[in-house]
Amino acid sequence: MFSTMQDVPLTVARILTHGSTLHGNSTVTTWDGTGPVVRTYAEVGARAGQLAHALRDELGVTEGTTTATLMWNNAEHLEAYLAVPSMGAVLHTLNLRLPGHQLAFIINHAADRVILVDGSVLPLLAAVLPQLNPTLKHIVVNGPGDRSLLDGFPGRVHDYEALIADRPTDYPWLTDIDERRAAALCYTSGTTGDPKGVAYSHRSVYLHCMQVNSADSFALTARDIALPVVPMFHVNAWGMPYAAFMSGARLLMPDRFLQPKPLAEMIDRVKPTVGAAVPTIWNGLLDELDAGSYDTSSLRMVVIGGSACPPALMRGFEDRHGIRVVHAWGMTETSPLGSFAQPPAGLTPDQEWPYRVSQGLFPASVEARLIGPGGERMPHDGVAAGELEVRGPWIAGAYFAGAGNEPERPEDKFSPDGWLRTGDVGTITPDGYLTLTDRAKDVIKSGGEWISSVELENHLMAHPEVAEAAVVAVPDEKWGERPLATVVLRPGATAGLPELRAFLAERVASWQLPERWSIVESVPKTSVGKFDKKVIRAQYAANDLD
Ligand code: ADP
Repeated sequence: MFSTMQDVPLTVARILTHGSTLHGNSTVTTWDGTGPVVRTYAEVGARAGQLAHALRDELGVTEGTTTATLMWNNAEHLEAYLAVPSMGAVLHTLNLRLPGHQLAFIINHAADRVILVDGSVLPLLAAVLPQLNPTLKHIVVNGPGDRSLLDGFPGRVHDYEALIADRPTDYPWLTDIDERRAAALCYTSGTTGDPKGVAYSHRSVYLHCMQVNSADSFALTARDIALPVVPMFHVNAWGMPYAAFMSGARLLMPDRFLQPKPLAEMIDRVKPTVGAAVPTIWNGLLDELDAGSYDTSSLRMVVIGGSACPPALMRGFEDRHGIRVVHAWGMTETSPLGSFAQPPAGLTPDQEWPYRVSQGLFPASVEARLIGPGGERMPHDGVAAGELEVRGPWIAGAYFAGAGNEPERPEDKFSPDGWLRTGDVGTITPDGYLTLTDRAKDVIKSGGEWISSVELENHLMAHPEVAEAAVVAVPDEKWGERPLATVVLRPGATAGLPELRAFLAERVASWQLPERWSIVESVPKTSVGKFDKKVIRAQYAANDLD
């Protein structure tokens, strides 16, 4: 027997029409470097309508046309987020920190017809223009920037405001489009090889959005002000822009001002209640808060994910600034919300910590299993480690292989029965909490034993004079691999390597202790701000580390 319920497609257009009407008075605030610039959701909805008219009538965007953005977190990017999928086209968010050849690769691979670009990042786009295919016909520039940089572009260049001006504000949004159609295209940051495209469906975006808004996740409500520091080109800013439009939460968009000082200032002035970013960003902000005098009391929660959150960072925010940190795990292929570390009921704050520093619990829609080296299922006993595989309605089942091609399902990324192989190694407790010990490619295989680089890093970063620490595997004649610790000391630090070694020796088994150490100025970062261990390994191989 089938149900008797209405079969209403879950589409981005529904999020747009809901947010711009029922929450029309809610606002998006963009930080322009000196202060806030405010626009209501009703205005955003109307301008999204104007943008859709321009894209359709003047730029030839139709259903399925890949339309890219090369933009920071700002109100115009939000307009594109809403307009492009809601008119049936596909929003392709370009990571503006990718190396040029990868940026060109993904623009060509996706066959983008239009790129909306912030004037402030025009030099990046100009640099790759010669590598772009003629499928790119239009560039739309938002805000101030040197347009002459685009002089060599054979297509047409438009100004965002001039393009949308005087067009109708209402648009026949495709609220009932097939919910399985692609709404947005996001490429992985390509730390190993070419970036891979994940095409989110309307349905996956919508369901993920409801998860973001659920009580044990971000729990956004109309009383919140959400600060997505995580860029909108990095897994859709973890779904926050759509979730805010769905719940009516106001948005504070930091544009390109992701440095600790402006972040602290905007928190102090605009009073966000929820923030989200990778650990390196929050690490910098914590130093700024420690040094300055800012009012951060509005923040009820900051979500840290994207790489393992050092417990010392969580403690720092909570103990010194009263800001609760919640740890979350996810990846481009998981939309990205995969797990969220809220503790079970009935525990004291101290008892909660082991749960809170873990990667957390999977929501109802995400199934997880651990697979051992021989392909066997590992028990969820909190001890046995295996590669994490996941499955669910907002988890990728394949990669986009270019228009007209069958999606790709590489064996190392998808199991024969369709689960996503995350490449992350960890354990799951009987009550369902995930702890990741490493990425499969970062774990240190020393003799027959595995050493968790993350565990060593977390201990080192708990030392008061250590700003950052990254541990990688390096080849070792006797053991196969051994850990190399690279450490960034805080200004004025007096600790030397013997002290750091002794500090670590008190916390880990002696066979896990690194013999190789290097004090560095900074840890190299990937395009989304994570430690770039590939670069550290290469630096070591090239004798570039002291
Ligand atoms: P890329 O894979 O290109 O770095 P993603 O942003 O998709 O881009 O990265 C996903 C990966 O980031 C995960 O597979 C995992 O290794 C890591 N990661 C994300 N969140 C966490 C976390 N909370 N703890 C540990 N690792 C994390």
